[in-house]
Amino acid sequence: MPAINSKTLDPCPVWFGGEWRNVNSVPTTPVHNPSTGDVIAEAPLCTAAHVNEAVEAAAAAFPAWMETPPVERARILFKFRALLEENFDDLVRSTTREHGKTLVESRGDVKRGIEMVEFACGVPSLLMGEILENMARGIDCEAIRQPLGVCVGITPFNFPCMVPLWMYPVAIACGNTYVLKPSEKVPLTSIKVAKLFEKAGLPKGVLNIVHGGREAVDALLTHPKVKAISFVGSTPTARHIYETGTKHGKRVQSNGGAKNFTLIMPDADVDNSVRGVIEAAFGCAGERCMAGSTAVVVGGAEKTVLPALIEATKRIKVGPTDRDPQPDMGAVITRQHRDRVLQLIEAGVKEGAKIPADGRGVKVSEAPNGFYVGATILDQVQLGMTVAKEEVFGPVLNVMHMEDLDAAIELANKSPFGNGASIFTRNGKAAREFKHRIRCGMVGINIGVPASMAWFPFNGWNDSFFGDLHMQGREGVQFFTQLKVTTSRWFSFSEGDVWHTEKK
Ligand code: NAD
Repeated sequence: MPAINSKTLDPCPVWFGGEWRNVNSVPTTPVHNPSTGDVIAEAPLCTAAHVNEAVEAAAAAFPAWMETPPVERARILFKFRALLEENFDDLVRSTTREHGKTLVESRGDVKRGIEMVEFACGVPSLLMGEILENMARGIDCEAIRQPLGVCVGITPFNFPCMVPLWMYPVAIACGNTYVLKPSEKVPLTSIKVAKLFEKAGLPKGVLNIVHGGREAVDALLTHPKVKAISFVGSTPTARHIYETGTKHGKRVQSNGGAKNFTLIMPDADVDNSVRGVIEAAFGCAGERCMAGSTAVVVGGAEKTVLPALIEATKRIKVGPTDRDPQPDMGAVITRQHRDRVLQLIEAGVKEGAKIPADGRGVKVSEAPNGFYVGATILDQVQLGMTVAKEEVFGPVLNVMHMEDLDAAIELANKSPFGNGASIFTRNGKAAREFKHRIRCGMVGINIGVPASMAWFPFNGWNDSFFGDLHMQGREGVQFFTQLKVTTSRWFSFSEGDVWHTEKK
């Protein structure tokens, strides 16, 4: 593996039908090390013809893979899991190198991904069906789960290891074959992970990788042999994927963006809530769909928690994550994205927000070309402001003020999104009211980032999710399988059977 800050370009091959291949005939898009701004690879922008090759390879592998007993599929997954553990540090470094997050954050990214493989290892139990004997007199009924065929995953840049692993381990465990289109901004970790699956003994064509952007995605959405599509990314793209995919008869689960609210009650423990809010707002430089990007200080919390929050934000050290010592926070994904985040901060200030912690002018002398924004707090944010409406996806915390719990819940429920929301309080009744009334799919009580783990659905609502069945947990298994219900009756034993005397 190249050193984490190597200057040589990594190859970025496609993987069709078990063959790794460089695609040289198409335009490419650069993959950066955001810590330094260096280009570390060029991702090919594959065409519809490449997509067709990938899908055909997956379709050809499907009949044999579907007939492979679930326990044999699980054995390959167990080996895959062991290889992921053996190569843990390499995957962590690869994630940091192409994404920019800290090594600690990349460890979380890889660990959450491995947990999905662990979940998928239980596939013989997860696939078990249901049976009712004597549904009517002498008639039995059973429901079993069968795979769909070729499934597709299209993933975002912000969790290079975890998000693809939300999708294909479960799909493949259930007997489907797969085409992954990783983010063109972070394709390298996906390649490493797939090579480990190959080494674990995955048959050729069961998993395929194609690279690219809109053209490749649109070809996947409309390909007649694709049965199901999993998407994770921004809300406008998630909506497009859902609408186009379903229009072409595919099953679709499509996770979108978010703006998550954290309520800080006047009775909240100051140290714990500051730690929770800081981690939620600035972890992974705010590039998380579960980022707690809006803190609502309720009543007296503006006098206790808010000053401590501002002080803690000013202490966050930003810098390159591809070397030691590690900073608290890394760069954002691209130069364009950094500029967009800075523009949104400017808009917030112009529209009347205060800026008690200002990350705009941050200088990182040891990596002057990295894509840095310092941790920023915009205070006195109002609902109509641009920064309150747009998902910033950067290290920017909006602070809003409300006089009581009811008003704070009402404010949070005005958001069109619905991924997560959290409350910091010592009061059980306040927590219970919040849990009951908040309109989003993942709720935290004294937890800054209430992201569900492998065994539970990753459960966005509203404009944060389009579809019915979420990724992760049993909903994931349901998404990747279709039920077959068989009703059976046997009238009599066969003529001439001597080993049984039929009772009249
Ligand atoms: P993105 O929407 O720009 O890209 C996601 C994927 O879609 C990429 O593979 C990209 O190539 C493809 N794509 C982009 N534009 C497209 C278009 N017009 N047509 C077809 N395909 C297109 O998202 P991103 O910037 O990579 O990731 C950040 C976003 O992902 C944020 O909005 C974040 O909230 C969201 N996200 C959501 C979840 C969740 O579970 N809800 C998890 C992680 C990230």
